[in-house]
Amino acid sequence: MGKKYDVIIIGAGPAGLMTAKTAAERDLKVLVFDKKKNISRIKRTCSAAFYFESNYMGETTQFEDNKLIFKNNGFTVDFSGSYWPIKEKYGFSPRGNKWHMVRFANEDYTRDTPLSVVLDKEALLAGLLAEAKNLGVTVMNAAQGRKIENTARGVEVEIYEDGRYARFEGAKAIVADGTNSKMVESMGLNKNRKVLGSRAMFVEYVMEGVENPFSHAVLNFYGKKIRELGSVHVWPNAKGFTRVLGFNNLTFRADFQYPEKAVQYFITESPYATWFKKAKVIEKTGGSLLPRAAIREPFAENILVIGDAAALIEVENQGALMCGFKAGNAVYDELNGLAGYKNYVEWWKHSFEFNNPELLKGMAVIPTLKVGEYSDEDIDYLFSLIDGQDLYGTCSQYRSGKAVWEAILQHRDTIAKEKPVLYEKVQKVMDLISGQL
Ligand SMILES: Cc1cc2nc3c(=O)[nH]c(=O)nc-3n(C[C@H](O)[C@H](O)[C@H](O)COP(=O)(O)OP(=O)(O)OC[C@H]3O[C@@H](n4cnc5c(N)ncnc54)[C@H](O)[C@@H]3O)c2cc1C
Repeated sequence: MGKKYDVIIIGAGPAGLMTAKTAAERDLKVLVFDKKKNISRIKRTCSAAFYFESNYMGETTQFEDNKLIFKNNGFTVDFSGSYWPIKEKYGFSPRGNKWHMVRFANEDYTRDTPLSVVLDKEALLAGLLAEAKNLGVTVMNAAQGRKIENTARGVEVEIYEDGRYARFEGAKAIVADGTNSKMVESMGLNKNRKVLGSRAMFVEYVMEGVENPFSHAVLNFYGKKIRELGSVHVWPNAKGFTRVLGFNNLTFRADFQYPEKAVQYFITESPYATWFKKAKVIEKTGGSLLPRAAIREPFAENILVIGDAAALIEVENQGALMCGFKAGNAVYDELNGLAGYKNYVEWWKHSFEFNNPELLKGMAVIPTLKVGEYSDEDIDYLFSLIDGQDLYGTCSQYRSGKAVWEAILQHRDTIAKEKPVLYEKVQKVMDLISGQL
């Protein structure tokens, strides 16, 4: 057994590294390890947009002077890597009718504030890692957490590194190993967690030489052909190169196709294939996730679970940084006899929308347009009703789908008159979001 740490952190993503930095700033003895050899290298797809969205996850972020600012939670993160503004979002029907979102000014943001900026996530992680190391954090790479348990003296973590097992002892531990967390499984915390749907798979190509006329936009594509294979989203990375993301949760189907097929269809056969005539793939990432209900009380004695490891689907990078900041301080409080973990859990429950069943309804609306209930003609017609209009721009995964429906439903009387069969389907959506309009 090695020396004893105040806190051992499993996973060095944005949540784990932010915890390490915050705890070290408060003079705690910190060990953080990650199974990756190169900790700041991104292998799992992440579009890395940093969202400017009022009261999203209980925060209203800003980005100024190379600082990501979290004013409600009271901290900043230095960031001097590349970034690329996203100013608009589009959804295209099979025939090219579209919805279009832009920034509306409010008390937090002006009309010129982009909806988000895509960050160079490798630079973000490298910056946090360097800061943690400078503060004296012990960092182990290529070290995989296998088991974690509470003991009479604190916690013990078993890791697998370089062909052998080793055990480390700490007073406290933070589990930050991301979605599909092995540590959460080993703690038995998945037992009462509802699985919501089927496993989702995703793949992303970063491409150069794409003739994409929408260099500062997020593009979503709808229609039967794409939906049979998954969904496709196109947007820039931090340097402005085009990315094509293929995503599906059709793993339950006997004729399941990997989302790579959706990407291949899109860049070689779809009406948008001409954009990709001279394109070259320069990077590929991918991954999978099994959506589980969030853990509402994510701690067991000395062990606190944070970030994606405890979430429904994801907390996003900005949520992960918030979790890390809060967790670093919570550990400090715990070691000083205060109820750090309990306070963290209260914050967790109130900050994240997925802990609020009412807000989840907004999310339930999103798939309604995706799952094939609507024919290509339906989608062409519905989007034609709002084509040419600027919709309230939002990046929130809870509000985006709802914002499109709200605009479409302004035309409910026309739909009822012109398309009575389609109106029956649309009525279901109205029921779902009634009271929220
Ligand atoms: C397709 C896709 C697009 C996304 N786009 C965005 C976006 O645009 N904006 C945004 O903010 N977020 C986005 N996200 C979400 C974002 O990537 C995550 O929410 C965020 O990375 C969560 O941070 P985390 O630190 O909790 O987990 P992770 O970033 O997953 O970090 C976990 C770390 O733990 C390590 N690890 C795992 N298991 C072990 C183990 N057993 N032992 C040791 N180490 C281990 C991993 O190697 C990793 O470094 C996207 C996610 C996906 C899937």
